[in-house]
Amino acid sequence: MKQNPLSAAELNELTAGLNRLAHNLWWSWDQDAQDVFNYLSPRGWQNLYHNAVAVLHEVSDYELRVRLQQPDFAERVRKAVRQFDTYLNHQNTWGRQHAPQLLRNPVAYFSAEFAFHETLPIAAGGLGVLAGDHAKSASDLGLGFVGVSLFYREGYFQQTVNHDNWQAEYYTRLNPKNLPLEPVLNDLGEPLVCSVRIASTPVTFHAWRVNVGRVSVYLLDTNREENEPLYRDLTQRVYGGDSSTRVMQEILLGVGGVRLLRALGFEPSTFHMNEGHAAFLTLELAREKMVGGMAFEQAFAATRQECLFTTHTPVEAGHDRFPSGLMSYAAHDLAADLHLPFEALMDLGRVRPGDTAEPFCMTVLALKCARAANAVSELHGQVSRRMWQSLYGASRPEDVPIGHITNGVHLVGWTKGTVRRIWKHHYYEGFPGKTEVDWKADSNSQEFWKHLADPHTISDEEIWALRYKLRRELIEFARRRLLIQGHSISQQDFISFDAFLNPDALTIGFARRFATYKRATLIFDQFENIVRLVRDKSRPVQFIFAGKAHPRDDAGKALIQKIMHLSKFSELKGYLVFVENYDIHTARQMVSGCDVWLNNPRRPLEASGTSGMKTVVHGCLNLSILDGWWREGYDGTNGFAIGDDTNPDNIKEQDERDSANLYRTLTEEVLPAFYNRDANGVPREWIAKIRRAWVTLASRFSTWRMVQDYTRRYYLTK
Ligand SMILES: *Cc1c(COP(=O)(O)O)cnc(C)c1O
Repeated sequence: MKQNPLSAAELNELTAGLNRLAHNLWWSWDQDAQDVFNYLSPRGWQNLYHNAVAVLHEVSDYELRVRLQQPDFAERVRKAVRQFDTYLNHQNTWGRQHAPQLLRNPVAYFSAEFAFHETLPIAAGGLGVLAGDHAKSASDLGLGFVGVSLFYREGYFQQTVNHDNWQAEYYTRLNPKNLPLEPVLNDLGEPLVCSVRIASTPVTFHAWRVNVGRVSVYLLDTNREENEPLYRDLTQRVYGGDSSTRVMQEILLGVGGVRLLRALGFEPSTFHMNEGHAAFLTLELAREKMVGGMAFEQAFAATRQECLFTTHTPVEAGHDRFPSGLMSYAAHDLAADLHLPFEALMDLGRVRPGDTAEPFCMTVLALKCARAANAVSELHGQVSRRMWQSLYGASRPEDVPIGHITNGVHLVGWTKGTVRRIWKHHYYEGFPGKTEVDWKADSNSQEFWKHLADPHTISDEEIWALRYKLRRELIEFARRRLLIQGHSISQQDFISFDAFLNPDALTIGFARRFATYKRATLIFDQFENIVRLVRDKSRPVQFIFAGKAHPRDDAGKALIQKIMHLSKFSELKGYLVFVENYDIHTARQMVSGCDVWLNNPRRPLEASGTSGMKTVVHGCLNLSILDGWWREGYDGTNGFAIGDDTNPDNIKEQDERDSANLYRTLTEEVLPAFYNRDANGVPREWIAKIRRAWVTLASRFSTWRMVQDYTRRYYLTK
């Protein structure tokens, strides 16, 4: 059947639609939209690392016009754009129903890092992932929300491992033109420029807007000609440089962020500080009020009413502390602006005001200047209350006003495409008449996961087949990466490439930042035992590791070195691989393809942990210490626990006990459940656990639930 060619007007409309799609990260959690770009250029989509804007730039206008004349492609584009517009214009949202006042006076969410997608690598780890997922769920919920962060033009580092098995870092420059970023312009169509004073120097900045579905996140950028080189480079790298760079970045984020929001006309009802990095925003809010005529005490009290603080770690290094000398160099303008003596400013960041030996702590500033504060799991709440007891002069930890909201993940965004298609299909079958907008909401409901976990919806055999597929996809991904890494395998190994990883073996994954408290190598403390396990041909086991150590963390790098060494030179060769350059894309492959997700932090230092939450929808089971979220999630039927709800204070004792418990759970619970197969080769008990995990964990540990909790408990209460 011959179709009429599209008119010029129709072509323009579709081209404009494609551009709008590419420039809103909504596509990163919409399958049909991703399929459009993949279909446009499958190789480009892969080579350009799933970057919709870059794919669109690669395809010439001429080709695009010809392609759009193909009815099936035009229809795909129309459908994706239609769904996008339906999403953007959807009126009857949770936010409009439950928090309409935030639509006028939004929540301003400040975070030093945001992780949205692998093409915009401006985050170091879990904190950024949480911020990105918070923004995506705020969009899905239709909440009044605006994000603020920095545009790091070299992002976080890319990781390779050199011939000594030592981590090496390199940086690549991000090109805003090839990213889903839009310059923030003033009324004249020129870049909107604001400024802050840092170390007595006026520093100017412009900003980029990231469209995350319905919400905007603004990234501040000091890379401007009029700035001195030191300040031009301030936003070069995520947590780059030394503590001097750090304090200056934080002044920019806090003070500059508030100024940008004001220049854009925002009147937020709550300023949410995601970690202490943004706490200088409180001083800018107080300054504004003093310009309006208030005295400091009054301004401070009013500022407090506007601010909320989330603390994310009990680990000492996670709390920025700046010595007095550095503060007086970088931040004395802040004191002058508030008409405060410098020591009074310092006291705002001290547990013991007046103690001139005590450095300035960003967490202390945030706690003092927020109307409410929260930790990110129940146990972390207990730990944080003890940690800050003296700051509040409380006689009992229970009296410290720090609550908790347990973290979550953006479920749809974290679900691998292969699985997302299948779950969506079951959703439409089980709940007739539903739409795409409904799916984005209902995939966070326990009803949907109960429906999915029902054997009438999906049989054990189907689940098991899917597990094989996901594991194989991961192994193919890992082998391709090993090939690129080159030195991980020799030429000879390459020829017998299939000797690396076995698509049928129980695959245990571990991927996260290589901070030492996460104890990446703990399982290999039982080296002889583990060698025996992997050598058992009847019940094979294998390990895939990934993760970055902070550039200045030599102890973390030593853990990577140990794993690399074991993977190349020990009896574990072929059964243990390290995939370099951990990022969101690698994370998605791993949390979907592994059978077991290993998490063995030194309790109680893992405030929440989120990577294990990403595994649930894929049917990968958690094997974890009862720390952070898992202490709340584990119920005896939905995964595996290492040890119990206690921990010795002595570190050596704790490591020994945990490694023995880990090995015991692995051999007495995990392996038998995985390898106990019926006549059809299906491990019924294992699959029952997968179903239990869907029902008991998926909706509970989603940011859809988490953002609702923040809204009810904190955003709407003053
Ligand atoms: C989820 C995620 C993390 C956080 O993992 P934890 O288990 O909380 O440490 C870190 N990095 C990336 C890339 C992630 O996707």
